[in-house]
Amino acid sequence: MNPSAYIGRFAPSPTGPLHFGSLVCALASFVDARHHQGKWLVRIEDIDPPREIPGATTIILKQLESHGLHWDGELLYQSQRSEAYKAALAQLNRDGLSYSCDCNRQRVSELGGIYDGHCRQRQVGSESAIRLELSKDGANSITAFDDLIMGHYRQNLCREVGDFVIRRRDQLFSYQLAVTVDDQFQNISHIIRGADLLDSTPRQLYLQRCLGASSEQITAMHYGHLPLAINSGGQKLSKQNHAPALAPGEESNNLWLALQWLQQAPPAELRNENSTTILNWAIANWSIDQIPSSAEIPAPDTA
Ligand code: GLU
Ligand code: ZN
Repeated sequence: MNPSAYIGRFAPSPTGPLHFGSLVCALASFVDARHHQGKWLVRIEDIDPPREIPGATTIILKQLESHGLHWDGELLYQSQRSEAYKAALAQLNRDGLSYSCDCNRQRVSELGGIYDGHCRQRQVGSESAIRLELSKDGANSITAFDDLIMGHYRQNLCREVGDFVIRRRDQLFSYQLAVTVDDQFQNISHIIRGADLLDSTPRQLYLQRCLGASSEQITAMHYGHLPLAINSGGQKLSKQNHAPALAPGEESNNLWLALQWLQQAPPAELRNENSTTILNWAIANWSIDQIPSSAEIPAPDTA
């Protein structure tokens, strides 16, 4: 592969400071990019104000910098990308691929979360949610890809997901829409992120196609989904279950523990070195094949 074609990214939502689980994602995407002489971009996914914490973006960026995770180019803020998302919605509407849906939460949950296309005959209106209409030809809705960590993954969107929301009833753009538009806009080639997003990937591949990406462009996208770091109670580390923020002053230890968690076997003496030395070791010795394909791995005690 032409190294200059590698563009990776880390795309945090500013819902709180980074914890061990988010550090692992930032670190793995950074080291994989640098190992391939690629670019590494940071995109702030601030399109869901009700979930955001004031000041979280500043804290996250400081945490990245203090861990030596320096990004290339300008930051991209999703809050400034409304025009692009509107244009994508307009394109999908024009191509007859979307419709308004007023079904309430209860109706959708009675369907087991897999939408039945009830509102398909409606036009796009302004007061309701907008769904993407999956192809009626079932074969087109089967999406498969080879994950760099989890292996072959296949999903039948019609059967397992159904027509999905691309603009929410509260008028906010959906994560699936925004992330797909921006990954295309930034020419992202490699997406290394948490396995909680593995089952979103087929929706994003499908949306790329709907938005005009060629099959060459789609096959040039590489995905690697990392196991989730879980706490002693077996829950994914997250703000909701009070995962502690990364401790300041502990950067070397945090990086070393994250590399060990990723099964990169960092030598013991590396633990006392500075961030740059640890990252340089990781870039030179990186082996994505060592990362286990298990869904979850307990976080170290300190996290
Ligand atoms: N913003 C998402 C999150 O923080 C990640 C999006 C992605 O990597 O695709 O969970
Ligand atoms: Zn509906």
